[in-house]
Amino acid sequence: MSVYAFKSFEYPTSSSGGAFPAIARALYEEVGDEFIVFGAAFNDDFSVKHFGKKYRDGILCFQESKYVRSDISEPLEQIQELIRQKIPVLFVGTPCQVAAINSIIKKSGCDSDSLLTIDLICHGTPKSELWRGYVKLIEQKYGKIKRVCFRNNFTRKKGRTFVELEDGRIIYDPDEMKAWMRLFSTCVSLYKGCFNCNFRNKDLNRPADITIGDFWGVQELIPEFKGIKDVSLVIPHTDKGQRAFDHMVSKFLNESILIKECNDERWRVFNPHLFEQTPIPLNYDEFWDNYERYSIEEFYKKYSKASLKYKIKRGLSDMFEKMGLKYKLKYVIKHFKR
Ligand SMILES: Cc1cc2nc3c(=O)[nH]c(=O)nc-3n(C[C@H](O)[C@H](O)[C@H](O)COP(=O)(O)OP(=O)(O)OC[C@H]3O[C@@H](n4cnc5c(N)ncnc54)[C@H](O)[C@@H]3O)c2cc1C
Ligand code: SF4
Repeated sequence: MSVYAFKSFEYPTSSSGGAFPAIARALYEEVGDEFIVFGAAFNDDFSVKHFGKKYRDGILCFQESKYVRSDISEPLEQIQELIRQKIPVLFVGTPCQVAAINSIIKKSGCDSDSLLTIDLICHGTPKSELWRGYVKLIEQKYGKIKRVCFRNNFTRKKGRTFVELEDGRIIYDPDEMKAWMRLFSTCVSLYKGCFNCNFRNKDLNRPADITIGDFWGVQELIPEFKGIKDVSLVIPHTDKGQRAFDHMVSKFLNESILIKECNDERWRVFNPHLFEQTPIPLNYDEFWDNYERYSIEEFYKKYSKASLKYKIKRGLSDMFEKMGLKYKLKYVIKHFKR
């Protein structure tokens, strides 16, 4: 198994290193106009759902991580039909979504040669019903939303998140989005099933042809990536996945990409979401009981402020990162825990 660090400088609106759009573009140039990409995008009401688009019509709507559960019920049958007709399809989603696609294709008895799957490193998805409440809060406070961004490379200097409004204003890191990201990173907003996820295991047993995610700690492992933010970690699992990845690299090698294989085993320690379960937060049940009990406005008030523990943890993490010590310390702590 090979593990790669990858950065494309072509995709400023990607969340990470742009592995997804680079692989999609290389495939399109190989297979042509019929090629269809399935990914997660916002609906008009800012709920998140998977749907398919011909690559030639643009895949911008799929770029950027949406930190909300995406609904894949609609594409399941469409993908089955496309594969039956041998139309080339790329599906990108969480491992459980890829497993659902694999299962439906297997049941149909179709040959899956024309399907390439990519799964994301995933520590869990927040519940969509809670996100609906946050959309309501943002619109009550600021007005009708035109675009929501949880994270991209391009605007990161102005703010981690932003909301663009119909009246043209752009609000960077509104309080509601800051609170949303805090609930996501502390894992309290995730579906309960995500705390016991089959797709995180020591053997890296994954359902997709290729896994992509953020390459945490890459600056510590590969000198060429020092100072480069938002780098993708790419792991091809199957021959089909390796071929698609190699093809993409050979196609874009002379353009603005940086690619290196990682042979330093410490990458496993720095990227635990591939291997370890996320522990369920102590206040998980209380959080969801309160969600049932209160109106969204009262609930938001209750959880809108960062706890002292969170502030200290975050502050220390930022400080050690600036000093270049964060991943060195992580490795030492992990070593002693063993
Ligand atoms: C809910 C969630 C949790 C994640 N957790 C981790 C983690 O713990 N560790 C880690 O290293 N990386 C994690 N990632 C992956 C990371 O944030 C990037 O999405 C990934 O590296 C792809 O970046 P990119 O630049 O190649 O793609 P981009 O160009 O940014 O495109 C994003 C891709 O992700 C897909 N996508 C976006 N939102 C969703 C969604 N809600 N459900 C399914 N697919 C979606 C899109 O279809 C698209 O293909 C997570 C992503 C999501 C959506
Ligand atoms: S953590 Fe597991 S169950 Fe939850 S969304 Fe990710 S892959 Fe699916």
